Amino acid sequence: MNVVALPQIPTTPASPELLAALHALLGDKGLLTAPEDMRPFLTDWRGQLTGTAAAVARPASTEDVAGLVRLCAAAGVAIVPQGGNTGLMGGATPYAHHAGIVVSMGRMNRIIAVDPMGYTMTVESGCILQTLQELASSHDRLLPLSLGAQGSCTIGGNLSTNAGGAQVLHYGNTRSFVLGVEVVLPSGEIWDGLKALKKDNTGYDLKHLFIGAEGTLGIITKAVIKIWPKPKDVATAWICITDPQAAVQLLSEAHIASENAVTSCELMNRTNLAGVFRHVPGTIDPLPTGPSEYYLLMEWSSALPKDGAMAARMEEFLADAMERGLVLDAVIAQNVSQARAFWHIRESHAEAGRHDGPGTSYDISVASSRIPAFIDDASAAVRAVLPDIRPAPMGHMGDGNLHFNFKAPIGMTNEAWRQYKQAVTRAVNDMLRDYGGSISAEHGIGSEKLGELAHYADPVKMATMRAIKRALDPQNLMNPGKIFEV
Ligand SMILES: Cc1cc2nc3c(=O)[nH]c(=O)nc-3n(C[C@H](O)[C@H](O)[C@H](O)COP(=O)(O)OP(=O)(O)OC[C@H]3O[C@@H](n4cnc5c(N)ncnc54)[C@H](O)[C@@H]3O)c2cc1C
Repeated sequence: MNVVALPQIPTTPASPELLAALHALLGDKGLLTAPEDMRPFLTDWRGQLTGTAAAVARPASTEDVAGLVRLCAAAGVAIVPQGGNTGLMGGATPYAHHAGIVVSMGRMNRIIAVDPMGYTMTVESGCILQTLQELASSHDRLLPLSLGAQGSCTIGGNLSTNAGGAQVLHYGNTRSFVLGVEVVLPSGEIWDGLKALKKDNTGYDLKHLFIGAEGTLGIITKAVIKIWPKPKDVATAWICITDPQAAVQLLSEAHIASENAVTSCELMNRTNLAGVFRHVPGTIDPLPTGPSEYYLLMEWSSALPKDGAMAARMEEFLADAMERGLVLDAVIAQNVSQARAFWHIRESHAEAGRHDGPGTSYDISVASSRIPAFIDDASAAVRAVLPDIRPAPMGHMGDGNLHFNFKAPIGMTNEAWRQYKQAVTRAVNDMLRDYGGSISAEHGIGSEKLGELAHYADPVKMATMRAIKRALDPQNLMNPGKIFEV
């Protein structure tokens, strides 16, 4: 994805004195310096980016975080915050010449409070997303953030990337369900914004500065998150459709037919699915004879325990759509494990993509009704660069968010592919600009899209972001060189 060389970030090396002070503060469990202990924290999930660090700090409390940030700030040493290290844009991976610290939040995994009556949970930022989903479920509630990395990613990382996932069209992205945060600022001060308030118009809503900031403005240590009634009646369908236009129309009608209960609508493409079935054990094609290039995974949910009512309503809707030619074939999950199997296929796309030869993926968004036209226009623009390239768009269609995947022409080597990548990126992103879209719908910028953001972002927005960064982090020590160069 890089089309502009990454900047070399000059960082002050952590001195032996600083490391000794950090060790005194954090103890043996809280500071890793042996190369073999640090290795997992220095390489990204995809195994594509590797950096360096003088130490990996593993604080166990907000006071630990504040103390270590104060020590680093006094020494002018840079910090890379890290959650579960599942981010796909390199935001949590230190640069190759990083001589400072990685701060891994995994030990800050305590549940502070659950308030089922008030529909909130207060947690430390290193809690694993799946643990929090299970916690909410044990209180008959739903934490509606679900994504393929949920077994490893942390709520702090989710907040810092404003993660999206598969239910945004109904519940919103992470930003929309955070009520309060506690943050350690680059100075080491603690901002206690840990309030469970739905209404608080006391000036700037500071929490939104830190959500989606990818660790560049401070370290999120705690959060109050909203939870919802747990769905009791869920219908999940695997739907074969003619084309993306049919998907848009079907979704538009489904909102009404379900009485606004569509909680997910994921577009899938036969090229990607073939990779999943080939590489991910235990995945079985729900509609193997499906004659189409495109499929939808659609879910309707209700908190009312009317067993089967949702599925019956969905069946009626899909049957009608089939009669009108909008749907070619469909299967509704008969039980929870079948629904899980459908979701496993969808969530395995990223994993399968790692094994499937040269290719690239763009995490983009456009207005959802314009997705079909965008797919056509952007595919044509990319084919003008490389005629035999294989577009395989898929993703969170209900949010207008595509993971616009391209596989290299069959037989093309990695080396040959690399020569086309920059021109392919330009073709996709120029088209996005023309459509008023976004070059990063949910994965963020990190180090991977730095050049593209600089190329396409509104200059006033960039200047404002830089002003905020300089005001909060005048030494540029908090994840320097991520999102933008200061
Ligand atoms: C298989 C797979 C599927 C995925 N699917 C989706 C998806 O559907 N939707 C989606 O949005 N993303 C998805 N992702 C991307 C990734 O899981 C999310 O970005 C996730 O939110 C990252 O959380 P993390 O804890 O792993 O953060 P990390 O990767 O550790 O960090 C991400 C960024 O946040 C910063 N950060 C982390 N913790 C903190 C903190 N406590 N305070 C301040 N900054 C912090 C880091 O510096 C970095 O910039 C997927 C990833 C994988 C591997």
